[in-house]
Amino acid sequence: MKAIEFSSVDKQFLDGDTTIEALKKTDFSVEKGKFVAVIGPSGSGKSTFLTLAGGLQTPTNGEVKINNQSFSTENEKSRAKLRFAQIGFILQASNLVPFLTVEKQLRLVDKVKKEKADTKKINELLTQLGIEKLKKKYPDEISGGERQRVAIARALYNDPAIILADEPTASLDSERAFEVVEILARETKEKNKATIMVTHDQRLIDYCDEVYVMKDGVLKKQEP
Ligand code: ADP
Ligand code: MG
Repeated sequence: MKAIEFSSVDKQFLDGDTTIEALKKTDFSVEKGKFVAVIGPSGSGKSTFLTLAGGLQTPTNGEVKINNQSFSTENEKSRAKLRFAQIGFILQASNLVPFLTVEKQLRLVDKVKKEKADTKKINELLTQLGIEKLKKKYPDEISGGERQRVAIARALYNDPAIILADEPTASLDSERAFEVVEILARETKEKNKATIMVTHDQRLIDYCDEVYVMKDGVLKKQEP
């Protein structure tokens, strides 16, 4: 089943008199259980593509569907609801809540959903990511790389059907970067998720099922 589907999607921005074509007309889909990489130079449209997939912005033309349901054509409120239930975001700037401990960053999701915290799952995720000792720490007490791993744990804890990661390994050393990608690959396979990872790092694409290259707003599949 298609987890994400773009049909004739483009995105333009107006900058004074000029139109920036951040994403040119794109048809694209990801099946459940697939791990997709998107590579390409800075400013080529990767983040635009990812935020369209996650409904953080809407296309200028065309339509984005998730799980065969209309998504980009829905109003902001229903998009937010779908996003919350279905999508785990790992963004470049790991946006943690400054006044919550690491553990509570994860449990925030339970609070919103009015569910009981799954302590076992929290411990398991934090251990996998090598940050179990940081449970009681606040974001400003840990390093940038550690904050990024907390953001990853938080995105996975919600058990989303779709994982969207924008350069999730940018602030990590290479050993940690490989570990993080391994975790994303395993989550994708074991739990039949659809994952899109934007990355600069060519070494990471070995873990992916499909690789796309973004250039000047044009997304092309890289043939193996
Ligand atoms: P990448 O993630 O590959 O670095 P982006 O998707 O961030 O690229 O940007 C693609 C192009 O769209 C760039 O030229 C960028 O300046 C432009 N762009 C992105 N977002 C906006 C915006 N909100 N307003 C105006 N231009 C934007
Ligand atoms: Mg970007």
